Parts: sequence; structure tokens; C-alpha cells
Amino acid sequence: MLKKIRVRFAPSPTGFMHIGNVRAALLNYLFAHQKKGTFVLRIEDTDQNRNIDESGSNIVEILKWLSLKYDEGPMIGGDFGPYFQSERTAKYQKQLDDMIRNQLVYRCFCSKEELEEKREAQIANNMPPRYDRTCLHLSDDKIKEKIVAGIPFIWRFKVNQDSVVEIDSMERGIIKFEMKNFSDFALTRQDGSFTFLFSNFVDDYLMKITHVIRGEDHLTNAAMQASLFYACSYPLPKFWHLPMLLNSDGKKMSKRDFGFGIQELKEAGFLPEAILNFVALLGNSFKDEIQSIGELTQNFEFEKVSSTGSIKFDLEKLHWVNHKWIERTPADRLVRLVKPFLHEQIEESVTLDDKSLEFILSKIKTDLRTLKDIGEVLNFYFNQPKVSIDEIKKQFGDDKTKFILKIINKHCDVCDKTEIFLQNIKADAKDYELSMKEIFGTVRYLLTGKFNGVSVHDLFEILPDKEISVRLKKIS
Ligand code: GLU
Repeated sequence: MLKKIRVRFAPSPTGFMHIGNVRAALLNYLFAHQKKGTFVLRIEDTDQNRNIDESGSNIVEILKWLSLKYDEGPMIGGDFGPYFQSERTAKYQKQLDDMIRNQLVYRCFCSKEELEEKREAQIANNMPPRYDRTCLHLSDDKIKEKIVAGIPFIWRFKVNQDSVVEIDSMERGIIKFEMKNFSDFALTRQDGSFTFLFSNFVDDYLMKITHVIRGEDHLTNAAMQASLFYACSYPLPKFWHLPMLLNSDGKKMSKRDFGFGIQELKEAGFLPEAILNFVALLGNSFKDEIQSIGELTQNFEFEKVSSTGSIKFDLEKLHWVNHKWIERTPADRLVRLVKPFLHEQIEESVTLDDKSLEFILSKIKTDLRTLKDIGEVLNFYFNQPKVSIDEIKKQFGDDKTKFILKIINKHCDVCDKTEIFLQNIKADAKDYELSMKEIFGTVRYLLTGKFNGVSVHDLFEILPDKEISVRLKKIS
């Protein structure tokens, strides 16, 4: 019988959820859902220095915002908890005790300074920097002596350096690691706490994880973790290490790159659906690029995953996907999403009722690349634009400007009757050999302050008649 698929998203609570985290979370989610498996959230908070978001609430909130619902994890629990590593110390201790009993580990009393000196000497001698196993060879008496003297120690795993460790990866098939290239690595710290490598291994084993899907920066860790699985004769999960994301300069993405932080994207007016959709496209191609999470669950081809090196983060593409999602969003939801951005940017917009906003949005939503664009796109509705004849002249030249304004002014009186006004100015424009772009561009400019954007027809529907008349008469 096939084992039930169990995958996990295992972020550290650094307080900064980024696009790489979301990618790991999404692919784990899609994999679990497509294979009828279980998606676990585990908070990896063993490193005190990185625990900014102690309760993991930022992670939980963002997953909720993205609708990436987990089946087991913080708040909801599950059969394999606790789901915070800080609450699993007894489990790690038990595993360590087993490994001590089986002589798979040894105490290392070397101080940080000693280790650093050895490292520098090895580098100076063109040798790969590896722990030289000083403490592996300590006699029992020496060990006792050091313990009695209170010298702090850590537990190291005794790597079988003659071995070749294999992992089965979804993207590259079997990957082999020659363990002679690895040091005996630490399982604990001097304060007795457990390292990431160790706790992550124990948890994947105890939580019965079948597939580890995470960033490529963990590939070397996979070799070390796999060597722990082998040493303890535990079944090794399959792996998928996702290619790194690079910024436009080809460097590994960081906090400094706009678009990396999820909170930042949320505040900039990106939709959760768009972020997920965009993230699913990274390194993949689909016939239809715009897909909901349900569609992605159906269509994602996990069997065809391959290794692609690194992937450039394309902010333009994210904008495009977001734009498409804004278009796709049902009117009532779009109103709800857009309102906070609109109210924040244009104070007087709070008086606009939902029905009117819904109507306006139906006319202008194709101009929004982000929800935040609403302030810029709709400013004309609340504020008369600053316009000047010089701007029109700059666009269309002195002579044409004269005729354009003449025509507009001539027909202004019927501008409460849209069709008639538009027909009239169209007819006159023809007589004066003016293009539609020139005449309508100017009408749009007088109404909105911009030569491009919302169609003139729609502007007549959005703005009150009186307002249209005032604005069109502004320059004569
Ligand atoms: N806690 C690790 C991180 O945040 C993830 C490790 C893993 O997925 O195995 O990078």
C-alpha cells in the first residue's frame, strides 16, 4: 500500500515572510491537496536569535490571508504535535540519548576560539576547513575530567566519511554526496539546545514526513540530515529543493528587493490570489497562466518537475498577474479590497457609497495594476485636475489646440447628453481634420488631467453632468 503523503512547511519565526517562504508553502500545499495528503505547518523556533515572531502569528496570519490552510499545526493541533520546535525538547533529547547509546555521537569540548584557529590554519594550508576530530579520540578519563571541570561541550554526529549518502529527489533523481567532504556536525549547542539540522531531522522522522519540499539553500543540509536518517535506519523522505530566486541584478533576493516581503506586497495592493498564481509560475509554464489555487491543484505537474538552476524574480510579471486578478475579481469583493486603499489616499472618498464605487470600478478596473493604484486612477473623481493650455499645445501643437478647444466649447451646452455631445464633437473634428485621439484625448485631459486612461464614454458615465460641464469649460 502506498504511504499517505505528508508534507510540511517549516519556517523560522523571523517576522519576515518572503516570497521564497510562500513558494515553499504553496508547493507543499498543492502537493498535499493533489495527492490527498496532509499539509503540516511546523514552526522552527530553535534558534533564539531568529525568533522575532515568537508565537508564529505573522506566519499563521499570512498563510490565512493567502488561504493556504494547513491540516495540522499551531492553533489547530494534530496527532503529531506539538508543532513548535521549542515545545519538542524532550523528543530531541530522547533521540539524542538513543544515538549516544548507539555511539553515533560524541562530546566535543573545543571552544569557539580553538575551532576558529584550526579553521584558519587549515585554510592557510589550502586544506578544506573540517573539524579535526580532536574530541573523538579523547579517553574516557579525559572526558570525565573535562566534565568535572565544567568545560562546556556540544554533541557531534560521527559522520561515516567512507560513505556515500544518496537522496531521492523529485527534480534530479538520485543525488549522491560523498561524506568525506563533510565535518562531524553539531547536534546540540553549548547551552544544551538543539541545532536546526538535528531538530529538523527528528521532526521529519517523528511527523512521518514523506516529502521535503524547500529551498535549494538546504541541499547541503539534506546530505547531513540524510546521513542521520541512515545512521538511525529511519526511512528517508523524498526531497524537492526549489531553485533560488534572484533579483534583477542576478543576486540572491533579499529584504532590500521590493516584492520579496509578503507584508510589503500586501500593503502595496497585491491580491493573495495573484501572489500565489505568480509564485506557482516561477520556473513553470502553464497553457493558461492565470489560475486559481483550485486550478493549480489540478494542473500542477509534479511528475514533470526538473532542476532549472535559479529563477529571476520578474516584478513586471507580478504586476501583470495582479492586474489580471483585479479584472477577475467579483465586483463586491473588489469594492471591499479597494476601499481601504482609496480611503487612505483620498480622505473625501469615505462619503462614496459602495454601489457608486462598484459602478466606477466596473469602468476603471482595467487601469489598476495594484489595488493601491486606485488613488492615482480615481483622483480625478474627487479633485478637479490642474490643467493648462500649454500642456495641450505640447501634445497637439498650437493650431490644433485652438480648433480642439473651439469644438469642445461649442458643444459644451449639451454635454449632459453624452451621445449627442460625442457625436457633435466627432463630426466637427472630422471637418477640422482632427484625429479622434486629439479630440478625445483633450476631453479626457480636461476631465482627468491625463491624456490617456479611462474612455471618454465611461468618464461621462462616472462624473456628474455639472462637473463635466465645469471641467470642459475650464480652458477656452
Ligand atoms: N526552518 C527552515 C527555514 O526556515 C526550513 C527548513 C526546512 O524546510 O527543512 O529555512
